[in-house]
Amino acid sequence: MGGEPRHANCALCLAVLNNKSQSKEHIIPNSIGGRRKARAFICKTCNNKLGETWDAELAKQLNWCALSVGVCRERGEVPKQIVQTIDGRRLWLNNDGTMTPEKPSYNERLVDGQTEISFTARDRREAARMIEGVKRKHPGFNEQKAHNQLEVQHTYLDSPIHMTLGFGGPSAGRSVVKTAWAHASDVGLPNWSCEEAKKYLTDEGYPPPYGFAYKTDFVSNRPADKVFHCVSLMGDPKTGLLLSYIEYFGLFRMLVRLSAAYAGASVQETYAIDPATGIALKLDIDWSVSGEEIGATLDGDGYTKQGYLAAMNHTMPLLLRRNDERHMSCAVREAFDYAAQSLGIDEGDIIPSDVWPAFVDAMMEKLDPFIHHLVVRSLPQQSVS
Ligand SMILES: [Zn+2]
Repeated sequence: MGGEPRHANCALCLAVLNNKSQSKEHIIPNSIGGRRKARAFICKTCNNKLGETWDAELAKQLNWCALSVGVCRERGEVPKQIVQTIDGRRLWLNNDGTMTPEKPSYNERLVDGQTEISFTARDRREAARMIEGVKRKHPGFNEQKAHNQLEVQHTYLDSPIHMTLGFGGPSAGRSVVKTAWAHASDVGLPNWSCEEAKKYLTDEGYPPPYGFAYKTDFVSNRPADKVFHCVSLMGDPKTGLLLSYIEYFGLFRMLVRLSAAYAGASVQETYAIDPATGIALKLDIDWSVSGEEIGATLDGDGYTKQGYLAAMNHTMPLLLRRNDERHMSCAVREAFDYAAQSLGIDEGDIIPSDVWPAFVDAMMEKLDPFIHHLVVRSLPQQSVS
């Protein structure tokens, strides 16, 4: 697998690949949690150029999913993004699944000849900066008192987030085709055998050799409890088809034709990972789909609203549950720290048994907003008529 780059050329610009020029190209982009790399695929120059354009566009479109799953990236973090509630509040969705206000707030008013200042910062560092700012403006300001009065507040959203989940366009599409090709290269196929991928990636006028695939489920052992990414290659010399099925986050499902004149050996290879952990999964892809359906899918008839909704219905509860689990462990950890701090128990200390009731009370006090949020959310929605 992988092969030595000594006799290989860059799949795109044909530059000779040697130790200096070859790149390690993530098969599934690093931005959405990809791990495995193709070594004898493209050169460093092409890798850098494409990483900035095609993969960046794909990463942008899939960012909400990446944040919700808590993608574990090999390099860097998933960037936070702005989300909006249906009543118009704008919030940052952070890397750890929490949300913070888009901007800090600051309020100054005169009460009985004295200036009263209140502000909301998004974290302690910002609060400290804001206190410094107040000190510059009002030299008599008691900085220490303000620090002592700082209070960390956690609240839970009571209105839903409005969002659009879309995927498409020529740049994201090129990233998908590149992934299919990198995978084929990594399992040992010569780069030139994917001639349609090459035409599409190097000729802007070439029609897209891929389509959305929602008519049938290609994954025969779809895990009920986790989302995944997969790329699956199928080459059949009898039909001449070299195809790749790619799925991201369980939601975006695509079929790519790498070649219509494949003459190599029969091949079927699948690579799948859990994007939250980077651990590879064993997936079975059902390639018994008819030639007619493959043709229709590549012609753009593979998108059905029903199929897309089925994918959404399978995946969204998994993404939301994953989000809840992260909030739950975050809330419990904070409640534990709060109880320990308020009862004077240091990290590593054993909690004496006579302190347990007070410890649990303190934890419950801190957990109250989270539990309230869970209860309120599980109540039936009131309808307004
Ligand atoms: Zn190149």
